[in-house]
Amino acid sequence: MTFRLYPNKQIEQSLRYHRKLHKDLYNAAVNNRFTQYQKFNQSVSYFEQQNCLPVFKEVWTEYKKINSQALQATLKRVDFAFERWFKGLGKRPRYKSIRHYSGWTYPAKSGYSVESNGENGYLNLSKIGRIQMRGKAKYWGVPTTCTIVYRNGKWYASITVDVLDQILKPETLPTGAVGIDLGCKSALSITDGENHQQIEAPKFLRNAEHLIKKASKIKRRKQAPNKNKKLKASRRWKKAQSKVSKLTRKVANQRHNWVHQVASEIVSGNSFVATEKLEVKNMTSIAKKGKRKKQKAGLNKSILDVGFGMLRSTIKYKVEQIGGVFVEVPTKKVKPSQTCPKCGHQHKKTLDIRVHNCAVCGYRQDRDIAAAEVMLYWAKGEITSRLGFCRDGSVANPNGNLTELGTSFVDADVTSSTSRTRKQAGSMKQLGRAKRQKSKSTGLVSQTQTSTK
Ligand SMILES: [Zn+2]
Repeated sequence: MTFRLYPNKQIEQSLRYHRKLHKDLYNAAVNNRFTQYQKFNQSVSYFEQQNCLPVFKEVWTEYKKINSQALQATLKRVDFAFERWFKGLGKRPRYKSIRHYSGWTYPAKSGYSVESNGENGYLNLSKIGRIQMRGKAKYWGVPTTCTIVYRNGKWYASITVDVLDQILKPETLPTGAVGIDLGCKSALSITDGENHQQIEAPKFLRNAEHLIKKASKIKRRKQAPNKNKKLKASRRWKKAQSKVSKLTRKVANQRHNWVHQVASEIVSGNSFVATEKLEVKNMTSIAKKGKRKKQKAGLNKSILDVGFGMLRSTIKYKVEQIGGVFVEVPTKKVKPSQTCPKCGHQHKKTLDIRVHNCAVCGYRQDRDIAAAEVMLYWAKGEITSRLGFCRDGSVANPNGNLTELGTSFVDADVTSSTSRTRKQAGSMKQLGRAKRQKSKSTGLVSQTQTSTK
């Protein structure tokens, strides 16, 4: 949870001073690693550096004032940067200028204290002072870590908390069970077996790729900085650059908000969620080979795909948080898009067939909804793929034969103390009703019209 900080002048100076000291320590630690390696061909570990801290503080006495765990956390940042570099995940660590140094972290409960009930309040930093903060946390509990961040002229505190509330008791868990098909034509196709619902990604996200491309194109026309040619960036380039980065950040924020909103809606009414095991590689390779290359590729690949990944993991996280069950359906084995949810008949559909139309039992349904249904029934143990069909309308115990089917699922006692209580914000059914009314004019109807063409 991030709060905006409103320090007074004197405190702000102190914050800047602390940030500078952390930056200097960071650079010293980077330097130490490089020189040790160059001179003695020896690599320095985090623990060696940590053990040097007391001696370091004897020489640089200004560091005595700073919380020692926060200093360790800064050394950890150095360690992390080197680790990433060694693994080939990141660039060679660099010395940082103060402009590129964001702040510091209190990794435990010392060095700061929070006066807040989750909304606004005050942050006390030792040796710095009491700072007003504004913001609202969705969940609140005992603060465990606190990171001070300086960005675009503003100060923030990012605080993580240990939530005290218990896992929902079985009788208060939301009772709904849904299958969800992610991606493809609608962002989400959700079903509980009776009510179906499709959710589109917000328009801004769908257009984001296009907007960013446009902004980058404008940027390319301006004079970019070039060290070799000794060219400085033009003012227009800088302006265009800031536009691109603002847009990118906006997209990231919106995606984040949308993902959390959708996931919360789902989990508010359901504690049992079945969805496909996501194999991203697979999806892209189909897009390359398939006839509908354009449609698939035009699905705002990068931006929405990232969204689907996040959506999936967020739903999983939230379901586990309340002590529910999240089932990953192995699509290769079950083939949700090729199986009839009513009779189990399997029939291969190409990507352009948007409607499931069963040749055996005559069941007609949107392709993605049908797939979501198959996943739900399979997860409940009502379908055992290929081996036969045992769906007879009776609802099996959600926790039923899952393990026998080799599904990975999480049950209540696996999720630990981090779980928390949620308000019931309406069941999936209520949600479905509201959405259906809405979609009468837009979503669903046009969906089916276009797909039956
Ligand atoms: Zn059928």
